[in-house]
Amino acid sequence: ERPQGELRFPDSYYDSEGRLVVKNLTLPQLEAWCASIGEDGPKRALQLWRFMYYDCKWIRSLEDAAVERGAQNGFSPAFRAKFAGLATLDGGLLLQSIHSAADGTRKMVFKVAHGPAAGGQVETVLIPITREAGAKARITLCVSSQVGCDMGCQFCYTGRMGLMGNLTAGQIVEQVVAARRLLWEEDVAAGVTKHITPITNLVYMGMGEPLHNLPAVLPSIETLCQPLGLHVSYNKITVSTVGLVPEMRQFAAESRAVMAVSLHATTDEVRDRIVPVNKRWPLAELIGTMEELFPKDKELFPKDKAAPRHGHHVLVAYTMLRDVNDSDEDARRLLDLVKNIRCKVNLIVYNEYPGTPFRPSTPERVQAFRSVLIQGGHVATVRDSRGDDQMAACGQLGDPGLSARPR
Ligand code: SF4
Repeated sequence: ERPQGELRFPDSYYDSEGRLVVKNLTLPQLEAWCASIGEDGPKRALQLWRFMYYDCKWIRSLEDAAVERGAQNGFSPAFRAKFAGLATLDGGLLLQSIHSAADGTRKMVFKVAHGPAAGGQVETVLIPITREAGAKARITLCVSSQVGCDMGCQFCYTGRMGLMGNLTAGQIVEQVVAARRLLWEEDVAAGVTKHITPITNLVYMGMGEPLHNLPAVLPSIETLCQPLGLHVSYNKITVSTVGLVPEMRQFAAESRAVMAVSLHATTDEVRDRIVPVNKRWPLAELIGTMEELFPKDKELFPKDKAAPRHGHHVLVAYTMLRDVNDSDEDARRLLDLVKNIRCKVNLIVYNEYPGTPFRPSTPERVQAFRSVLIQGGHVATVRDSRGDDQMAACGQLGDPGLSARPR
């Protein structure tokens, strides 16, 4: 029996038993829902929020709170009984396995329990970064936004699966919570109880095209950045897109996270072939939109303090494919394409997978390509391949059988 006046959300916010999945809600939505079931909205919402997302708790159920923190700090039996029939703290991902690569990269594989992608598998990759020897590990977390992907990029393993379904906001958030829980458990087991290994950067570059699932991606970013919970900063979150122009506009207008556009080619002829979405939004339209959203001449620190400071720049991702897009001529064309865009170019070393017709560019070619960009006055970095012996690297997420196969 649901209370009269209870706030209703879209169907995808509920699990298969009709319970509201609380991780799908932003904090203001949770406050409104708590109030609608007769609770003190802000107080109850904050209590739930902190147990779900704040510092070493990350509970899966209200009973966890009682066990872990003592009943007096947890939830009253009366509230637990009321909550049990209405909602769940479980985001809807079941951890299946964890694969470690030789370089310390790890891939968590989950089964999706409910929602549009129910029954599918989804993957989250923890990439350690250490800037100097002896420094404490920091983690970049790569999250998935869909099971499979509809974009069909020719060099991408995930693209070969097609789209099986969208993840919900709660399932995106749950990937981060699960990674945090894992790091915490490991630190505790190693005797570290303070300053757990931080997740410093978060990238939406796992399975799926995030801008193809904006209704879940946008609220998930709000939840991840909420200061009373996981408190990731917006400029540490990068959301990648293959170039869906209308959604790029929406994202730039509604989110403060960083956008990364996967360009991968400098002519329509090549891009049509390797990134089929180019046929819908060809280079001229894509570049024009980027020039409009991230103009080079925009004042970086406007005097008007109230003006938004986000969206200064965009990242341009460019996967280097041998003899396909890696000539000096390509580099010069790339310079020309981005000349009016405030951007950084990130050259990506291609990760091969069994059966792909593409080969990575040689290290010498990557450096020569990069030199052309730098001589043209552009910031260009090279992203190394990480985790590729466990199929945890970029463009390799997808097949659980292959995932565990050392190459
Ligand atoms: Fe989808 Fe990204 Fe793969 Fe393209 S590269 S098919 S957008 S997952």
